[in-house]
Amino acid sequence: MNDCLFCKIAAGEIPSTKVYEDDEVLAFRDIAPQAPTHVLVIPKKHVSGWYDAKDESDAALAHLMRAAATVARMEGLVESGFRVVSNCGPDAQQTVPHLHLHVLGGKAMAGEMA
Ligand code: AMP
Repeated sequence: MNDCLFCKIAAGEIPSTKVYEDDEVLAFRDIAPQAPTHVLVIPKKHVSGWYDAKDESDAALAHLMRAAATVARMEGLVESGFRVVSNCGPDAQQTVPHLHLHVLGGKAMAGEMA
């Protein structure tokens, strides 16, 4: 999508700090990290959010989740643990309308999730 921030990052038009990439997904560091490790994992294909993901294959969505686990392993978070978050829509404070997973780790997190 032409005016999508994360599509522009996926296309290399806006710089990012890449952590992982394959044919389908890109993972890069969040510009405003909320934990010592804060990586965003996105599909390269534009998908607005989970409400829009009904048209995506199960394999593509599983691949996205698997990439989050790969990133956690690459970032050394397997032993300590990590959190994967995906905000969807206004109540969840989604600010970028391109499906993404936040991989957060490197500190003990609050017990509350909302
Ligand atoms: P969300 O609020 O769940 O939609 O998450 C969007 C995330 O994108 C936020 O955590 C922002 O800090 C992050 N973000 C916004 N612009 C950039 C950028 N240019 N590079 C990396 N992360 C960004």
